[in-house]
Amino acid sequence: MSADRKLESASYARLVRVETSAKTVQEVLSKERASNRRVGFVPTMGALHAGHASLLDRARSECDVVVLSIFVNPRQFGDPNDLASYPRPIERDLDVAERALVDVAFTPSVSEMYPNGFTTRVRVEEMSDILEGRSRPGHFDGVATVAAKLLSVVGECRSYFGEKDWQQLMIVRRMVSDLCLPVDVIGCPTVREPDGLALSSRNVRLSDAGRVVATCLSRSLYAGSAAIADGVRDASVVKNAMLQVLSDVSVDYAEIVDEQLRVSEVLHGEVRLLVAADVENVRLIDNVGAVA
Ligand code: AMP
Repeated sequence: MSADRKLESASYARLVRVETSAKTVQEVLSKERASNRRVGFVPTMGALHAGHASLLDRARSECDVVVLSIFVNPRQFGDPNDLASYPRPIERDLDVAERALVDVAFTPSVSEMYPNGFTTRVRVEEMSDILEGRSRPGHFDGVATVAAKLLSVVGECRSYFGEKDWQQLMIVRRMVSDLCLPVDVIGCPTVREPDGLALSSRNVRLSDAGRVVATCLSRSLYAGSAAIADGVRDASVVKNAMLQVLSDVSVDYAEIVDEQLRVSEVLHGEVRLLVAADVENVRLIDNVGAVA
C-alpha cells in the first residue's frame, strides 16, 4: 500500500456500517473501488472468536475497506438441530467487528440471500464428496453456493479464509479459479488455545470436561506430523499414530492428503493431516500441514 493510501484509510470512518441489503453493499463497495480503495472481505457465520479476529486483522493490515459478512447459511447444514443450535450472538459480534475496525458488516437475512425463486446451486465436483463431504452430503454445495453469492455481492476483493477449514479453503479456491471471479483467496493460519485446541464457534457447546477431551484432535495431528518428521512415509503407519491418540472419541476420519486432497499410500512432498471427531455430540475438525 502506498503512503498516500495509508493516509486515506487512516482518515476513514471507523464505526461499523451494518447493512442487510446485498444491493446496497454492492453499490457501497463499487464506489470504494472507484476511489481506488482495496476491499478486504471476511465471510463468517458469526459467533466471532480470536480465529475470526485474526482474519479481520489481516484484512485490516492489507486493505483499505474491510467487509465482514455474518450469515448462518442454512444450505450447508444437513442436520436441522445443528442449524437451530448454532450460536448467534449478533450484538457481541458487532462489538468484535468494531474493535477489529471493520468498515461494513453485511448481515443478510435468509430471504435476502435466497429470495423466492432462487434455484442456483454451485458444486465443485470430486473435492466436495470426500472427507467432510462424505459425512455431510450437500454441505460443500451449500458452502460453494453461498461463497459464490457473497463474493458476487462484494465483488473484486481479497478474501480471507481460515486454514482451520482446509477442505473449504481448497474448494473455494477452486471455485474462484474455475469461475474467474476477481478475488484473491488468502488462507490464514489456524488460531489455537494454548493447549492446542483449534478455536471454533462450536467449542462453546462443550462442557469443561469435553473441552479437555477435545484436545486429542490437535494432539493426534501433532503425533502424525511427528511421525512424518521422523521419516515415516507409509500413510497407514502415520494414520495409526493419529488414531491411537483418538481412542476416547468417536472418530469420523483421520486422513493424510496431498495438495489436491487426494489420499495416497506413500507420502511425498507437502501433505495435510486432517481429523474429524464427535465430542459430546459436537462435530469438531482440525488439520495441520507437514512435508514428507
Ligand atoms: P465460520 O464462521 O466457522 O464459517 O468461519 C469463518 C472463517 O473463519 C472461515 O474462513 C474459517 O476457516 C475461519 N476460522 C474459523 N476458526 C478459525 C480458527 N481457529 N483460526 C483461523 N481461522 C478460523
